[in-house]
Amino acid sequence: MSATILDGRPLAKTIAEELATEVAEFKQKHGFTPAIAVVRVGEDPASVSYAKMIQKSFEKGGMGFGLHALPEAASEAEVLALVADLNADEDVHGIIIQEPLPKGIRPEVIVEAMSPDKDVDGVHPANAGRLAQVAPVGRPPGVSDYFVPATPAGGLEILKRHNVEIKGERAVVVGRSNIVGKPMALLLLREDATVTVCHSRTANLDAICREADILCAGVGRAQMIKGDWIKPGAVVIDFGFNQLGDKWVGDVDFEAAREVASMITPVPGGTGSMTNVMLMKNVLEAARRQAAR
Ligand code: NDP
Repeated sequence: MSATILDGRPLAKTIAEELATEVAEFKQKHGFTPAIAVVRVGEDPASVSYAKMIQKSFEKGGMGFGLHALPEAASEAEVLALVADLNADEDVHGIIIQEPLPKGIRPEVIVEAMSPDKDVDGVHPANAGRLAQVAPVGRPPGVSDYFVPATPAGGLEILKRHNVEIKGERAVVVGRSNIVGKPMALLLLREDATVTVCHSRTANLDAICREADILCAGVGRAQMIKGDWIKPGAVVIDFGFNQLGDKWVGDVDFEAAREVASMITPVPGGTGSMTNVMLMKNVLEAARRQAAR
């Protein structure tokens, strides 16, 4: 069997077009432009290139973008003052704090200083907590307005747009970070999958992966998940983005896995393509909430 390739690029393009129309309608109706502020301290190269990608997609989609880059030597108090300004700025609807932050600046302090209403990457404890508590696990629908981190939201969107059955299926998520693994597991739980979360201390990882109808990888280790770890016919969502020599590869050994899985995201071009459009969606949602207040 050779798996269907879940190409995120055309999907991201379709969603970007849908969003551009929605953004134009929003601006017409409300007279202001949904906008994001990206906060960076220092010049981490991956953060610099990610900010450029965000800028390109937001400008192309008719949305506002502002970069607030502080020098590496900035103090925690200076970063907090910037976040407070952005919280108060009515022209800013979403804020992203880029990590890593320089030593001496505590990420959790900066993240918690952000208004949850502008936390469009769903990292503030209020948003993460609401995702953890949402129905059917806890709070009934409609009680919580919350933001989901863009990368796992993109992974779920890929599954949904390809009509992958989630309810009742066995899902395994390898990785438990706050930005990829944990929210992906919670999203799958919200969709009624039976979810196992694995991490660096998990015993018998290969055997657990082999049980998965839906296998999601957010590890950051090139091609760690082998072809024979995959259940025949499984759907594989690979969030990994790792440099291997002169190419970029996922956490899954793609060439071997595609012979076993029924569907698989490629790297590059899979989940990575979806992250920006999901972020745009969240910023539009944040602007909608502001307009409704
Ligand atoms: P983190 O380093 O924060 O988390 C990695 C997770 O993998 C941890 O939970 C860790 O376990 C687990 N892990 C590490 N080694 C092993 C192992 N040998 N076996 C099992 N689990 C292991 O990474 P991120 O979540 O930020 O990113 C994960 C990947 O996703 C990276 O490749 C990153 O580049 C990519 N990424 C992709 C994005 C996209 O847009 N597609 C966006 C963000 C990230 P433990 O908790 O025990 O340490």
